[in-house]
Amino acid sequence: MYDDVKNIEKLFSLDDKELLALADETRRKYLGDGVYLRGIIEFSNICDKRCAYCGISADNTLLERYHLSSEEILKAAGHIASCGIKTVVLQSGETDSLDDDWLARIIKEIKSSCDMAVTVSVGEKSFETYKKWKDAGADRYLLKIETTDPEIYSGLHPGMSLENRKRCLSDLKMLGYETGSGTLVGLPGQTVRHIAADIKYFNDNGFEMIGTGPFIPHKNTPLQDAKAGDVALVLRTIAVTRIVMKTVNMPATTAIGSMDRDFRDEALKWGANVLMPNFTPVPYKRLYEIYPGKRCISEPAGACAGCMEHLTEGAGRFIDWSRGGSARNEK
Ligand code: SF4
Repeated sequence: MYDDVKNIEKLFSLDDKELLALADETRRKYLGDGVYLRGIIEFSNICDKRCAYCGISADNTLLERYHLSSEEILKAAGHIASCGIKTVVLQSGETDSLDDDWLARIIKEIKSSCDMAVTVSVGEKSFETYKKWKDAGADRYLLKIETTDPEIYSGLHPGMSLENRKRCLSDLKMLGYETGSGTLVGLPGQTVRHIAADIKYFNDNGFEMIGTGPFIPHKNTPLQDAKAGDVALVLRTIAVTRIVMKTVNMPATTAIGSMDRDFRDEALKWGANVLMPNFTPVPYKRLYEIYPGKRCISEPAGACAGCMEHLTEGAGRFIDWSRGGSARNEK
């Protein structure tokens, strides 16, 4: 039914009430009311790439760069574990200077000392590198594609290729990672048909995690004067993704929590089932500024773990403290 872009696009023409009801019913039927937590550590903002929408792109020479030590990362991971959260996300910009063996040692150390799933999100790498981290114990990998439209993709990613991004995602699946991708909603030139095509690509490839967020213009990027993504369309994209992909894990992203108000409770109502409290140490949080206005950058690390309960209850849901692996692999 959803192997055709047009059928997915048709879902976008449902009115808000119908779409929300269908997404909510699908989420409840396939996943229940639980919301999984993933503790995120943004361990470095060093990036070699020049994505036109990104505040930590290599072109932003005004940004102070940082890289956490292994000790700082392991301390933050221990903090996540002590809060009862069973997934740590290790995220950074994409750089050839990242030492694969160093990261493999950290993954191993976390896996041996804490009962947690490890998600890695450090960009495009070789099959061998992905394998090394999988062998070290990594469970999941996030690599957002942002758009699958070749023209929009090439206009936003100088020196990068859509084919290589897809190659990486296919390698990750082949290696047995729970694989995550996602769309940036509101990119210049993007239409609902493009977004529907993204969702078809995600579904065709059996990805287990999809992150959908709004484009938010950053003043130190070439897109500083572009219009921000529309929150209503972000929520509708989450809903359509839920209806098409059923059991997929989807976060209410920090980006959707950083609009003129925090829309994460709405995202949970429109089909999301994951929240990602930030455990990056405070001095560094403000430097991982992919987009401006990021929520809670001065809160102590992990403080938002507490407000997750509040958010979840506000949406009529509860926190599921399990690892929250993919139900897609079990259905
Ligand atoms: S989106 Fe990722 S790869 Fe692109 S510039 Fe930002 S951190 Fe680097």
